[in-house]
Amino acid sequence: MNAEKRRQILERLRENNPHPETELNFSSPFELLVAVTLSAQATDVSVNKATDKLFPVANTPQAIWDLGVDGLKEYIKTIGLFNSKAENVNKLCRILLDKHEGEVPESREALEALPGVGRKTANVVLNTAFGWPTIAVDTHIFRVSNRTKFAMGKDVVAVEQKLEKVVPKEFKVDVHHWLILHGRYTCLARKPRCGSCMIEDLCEFKDKVYPEE
Ligand code: SF4
Repeated sequence: MNAEKRRQILERLRENNPHPETELNFSSPFELLVAVTLSAQATDVSVNKATDKLFPVANTPQAIWDLGVDGLKEYIKTIGLFNSKAENVNKLCRILLDKHEGEVPESREALEALPGVGRKTANVVLNTAFGWPTIAVDTHIFRVSNRTKFAMGKDVVAVEQKLEKVVPKEFKVDVHHWLILHGRYTCLARKPRCGSCMIEDLCEFKDKVYPEE
């Protein structure tokens, strides 16, 4: 795909949604970090249901640490992989208290050193909590980027590197959310909704699906 087409896609996505936001509920960098950690292999809706009960009771590293692993499990047991996630969030709170004065560090290295926090989670936190132009590639972004030929790559790191290279600076902070939302609601994994897609004329996918035909 050429640069002009990419720019048109980004402009269209921006016009449609000038201030995209994550669908996870949070009101501080710490709440975001916990929510993103809980969201691995789970839907944002299921995470929000749990954190809507958890955060009013405990939304600081000290408060969640004080719940203990079993106490935390009570709040998150409806989310997949809750046993290991409870262990990770509990340990993560201890590290924030011991090493970062109870704050979420604005540093990729420090974030990735936390249990349960990989490159994708670190990218989301740096982007959404701190406004860094990082691009976290999840399953939706990976699919949309490859399918449309916007930024092709054989794995998530390759797609992230390609996006870093081809997305102009003015779009970098928001491209992550635009592509996720596009993948979640329009460019669906099994049956993309090409007939109602706002970038259909620009997308280079060969097997577009038009259910209305
Ligand atoms: S036209 Fe179809 S394949 Fe291309 S981005 Fe839109 S929904 Fe996805």
